[in-house]
Amino acid sequence: MKTLPENQYDRMSAPRYIGLPTFMRAPQIEDPSDYDIAMIGIPYDGAVTNRPGARHGPREIRNSSSMMRSIHPVSRINPYEQCHIGDAGDVPFTNVYDVEKAHKNIEDFIHLYTSSNTATLAAGGDHSVSLPILRALGHDEPMGLIHIDAHTDTWDDFLGTDYSHGSPFRRAVEEGLIDPKRTIQIGIRGAQNASVGWDYSESVGMRVIFMEDILELGIPAVIKEARQIIGSNRAYISFDIDSIDPAFAPGTGTPEVGGFTTREALSLIRGFDGLDILGADVVEVSPPWDPTGMTALVGASMMYELLCILATAHRLRTE
Ligand code: MN
Ligand code: MN
Repeated sequence: MKTLPENQYDRMSAPRYIGLPTFMRAPQIEDPSDYDIAMIGIPYDGAVTNRPGARHGPREIRNSSSMMRSIHPVSRINPYEQCHIGDAGDVPFTNVYDVEKAHKNIEDFIHLYTSSNTATLAAGGDHSVSLPILRALGHDEPMGLIHIDAHTDTWDDFLGTDYSHGSPFRRAVEEGLIDPKRTIQIGIRGAQNASVGWDYSESVGMRVIFMEDILELGIPAVIKEARQIIGSNRAYISFDIDSIDPAFAPGTGTPEVGGFTTREALSLIRGFDGLDILGADVVEVSPPWDPTGMTALVGASMMYELLCILATAHRLRTE
């Protein structure tokens, strides 16, 4: 049988509409230990509180991500020259009807990568998936967290579960996975029926920056404060697509008007270059609510920005 070796085909210079649509047209991963950064799909939305559909996020983000290129226009980082980057495929679920069992599927699969010191860049899925990712990172001490979202996701139990997409970061504090004093939540907005999430975040010492404050502060001041809070220790970045205004990203389960423009979101992520980021995710892209496909493109674009941040972090850790 004749086979075509991977290196005979330069994926980045090939026409972008050709081939299996892996994330960013990166090669499919066979052995996790060969890679520095793994992009992973988590097609799970069993923990949403309202509109579903984020289970279809990874497939549409993969398709839109074929539009992404390699050299960053501002930093001139080419993550593919700095790191070995691949697509790990999707979490192979054996349980989707029980949230805690589904989360265990996610944790076990992500752990295949984190245990070989491969950084992970995940595409959700609803926001509950960040909790099993943080569990799989499993560090000796709680990590810092940059959380960009319209919602604090520190609510408590909801309709019979402690693990809805409204509570991952409360559980992460309780489980000692993140340090609330090294956590910053950026872009919070929207009315609530109860203030329990906002109250919890502030009571444990998280820095919560409401969108109203960002209008006053400006993006550079927010970046400066985030960098001070995270410092030189390890941290994770979680990006909920609903942080962006639904004018740009309507395809999500819990849209809130008055959000970031895509231009502001790009500037914000670019401001985290040089921090010791171990992993990141982009969650809550819900294709059934995304009539033009724009939200998937925004999600893929944010993943590319985060890939560049992870590439710098990898370089700084290994040089
Ligand atoms: Mn969220
Ligand atoms: Mn949200």
